[in-house]
Amino acid sequence: MARYTGAVCKLCRREGKKLFLKGDRCYTNKCAIERRAYAPGQHGQSRKKQSEYGTQLRAKQTARRYYGVNEVQFSKYYEMAVKMPGMTGENLLKVCESRLDNVVYLLGWANSRAEARQLVTHGHFCVNGKRVDIPSYLCRAGEVISVRNKSLESDKFVAIFEANASRPVPAWLESDGENRSAKVVNLPEREQILCPVEEHLIVEFYSK
Ligand code: SF4
Repeated sequence: MARYTGAVCKLCRREGKKLFLKGDRCYTNKCAIERRAYAPGQHGQSRKKQSEYGTQLRAKQTARRYYGVNEVQFSKYYEMAVKMPGMTGENLLKVCESRLDNVVYLLGWANSRAEARQLVTHGHFCVNGKRVDIPSYLCRAGEVISVRNKSLESDKFVAIFEANASRPVPAWLESDGENRSAKVVNLPEREQILCPVEEHLIVEFYSK
């Protein structure tokens, strides 16, 4: 399935919440949600009561868009989550959080998840010292993620590091800022996951 390449702010407006898909712009008053907090399109401003199915669908789409995952991959993640011990909804978010592109973004090594995805594809990062260029690579506890030495000096990375120097790194990632590397201590607990979604609605969506 093709990746979405349209206007990303429309995705936030469709879900009615900030999904932080555009880096710095999301924190300014240029954010489309601040200016037009209604769904895009001709009928975006008409008020419609949402059905139960609609609410569940929106929850699934919110999570999928937040992590930049396509439908097929997301439903595979759901199947993985079902087989894991614990609560399926939480497991699903944990799987999404452990994607390499998400980890790179959380470490402040990219301005957005979309940029992280591109940088991973271009081979700028290593896992346990080996280059990995697959954004959907699922990081595991104990693995060490790092920026390749060759990439560290590039203007692009210097600018990214500077822009994100004050961005807090979640506690489940042990960051060694000086060496631009980080260890995955464990997979995150639900309260450490910022995805703005009620995951039980996604489970209900797939359980139909
Ligand atoms: Fe979403 Fe960011 Fe666009 Fe705001 S600026 S609508 S948060 S992508």
